[in-house]
Amino acid sequence: MTSPDGLPSLRDVIRAHDLAAKKELGQNFLLDLNLTSKIARLAGDLANSDILEVGPGPGGLTRGLLMEGARRVVAVEKDRRCIAALEEVGAHYPGRLTVIEGDALQLDPLQHLTPPIRIAANLPYNVGTELLTRWLTPAVWPPFWTSMTLMFQKEVALRITAKVGDDHYGRLAILCQWRTDPKIVMHLPPEAFTPAPKVHSAVVHLKALPEPRFPADAAVLNRVVAQAFGQRRKMLRSSLKPLGDVEALLESVGIKPTSRAEEIPLEQFCALARAFAARG
Ligand code: SAM
Repeated sequence: MTSPDGLPSLRDVIRAHDLAAKKELGQNFLLDLNLTSKIARLAGDLANSDILEVGPGPGGLTRGLLMEGARRVVAVEKDRRCIAALEEVGAHYPGRLTVIEGDALQLDPLQHLTPPIRIAANLPYNVGTELLTRWLTPAVWPPFWTSMTLMFQKEVALRITAKVGDDHYGRLAILCQWRTDPKIVMHLPPEAFTPAPKVHSAVVHLKALPEPRFPADAAVLNRVVAQAFGQRRKMLRSSLKPLGDVEALLESVGIKPTSRAEEIPLEQFCALARAFAARG
């Protein structure tokens, strides 16, 4: 059976290349090209961007990105079994797909990419959050990417986009919202995937801000936020105690020492980080 792009259907690709999903690689595939095209469109201006795709698997999202006109896709896949299937996609789109076999946590594909660069991925949960954290904490800002369009478990998507006062508000929300504008742009039920995972999923689009939303030193902010949310139900005067005498510092930036991390908006965490940095 052929598909909208003239290539065999993803089910046929999986059959032909013997790509039965492996649990240890977090393989839950998207086999509906209408759906992957829709996700690709959410990634932004494809025609004028190189796309870094991590974990292309049998190529559902890769084909969506190429069908929707991506200038170039550089796809990094750990599972050797998928490489031949992806090369066939590359042959269908001459010069527009580079397939790299390897672990995205170990290799740096930047040399293959020309700015502007966007990231798109449907990754296993643990790899996805690890890479998200790395992509959000580069040595210099703005980063090498202009936007990231990433599939997560719904619960992680809620943690990324949570506002102060929400149950999911915490370190991940601060990390993501300090330097990007994250939005949930699509919800997917388990049945959208083969095999179906136990949980619901969501696509999050994160646009890099030209500069952080509020000034702060990244390392200091990270230390303060980690300490504050490490014991999120404790009052800040206790949870931040390991960082020194904090009561006066908290008051100097308008935070009650009896308040808890989950009540403090991003702007105040940045003010607190600046106060810590100024104290030295
Ligand atoms: N993008 C495909 C789709 O949407 O159908 C596959 C998604 S599947 C959830 C995750 C993919 O990431 C798998 O193909 C898996 O082999 C790959 N993967 C897992 N860990 C990886 C890693 N560390 N580096 C690169 N790829 C990885």
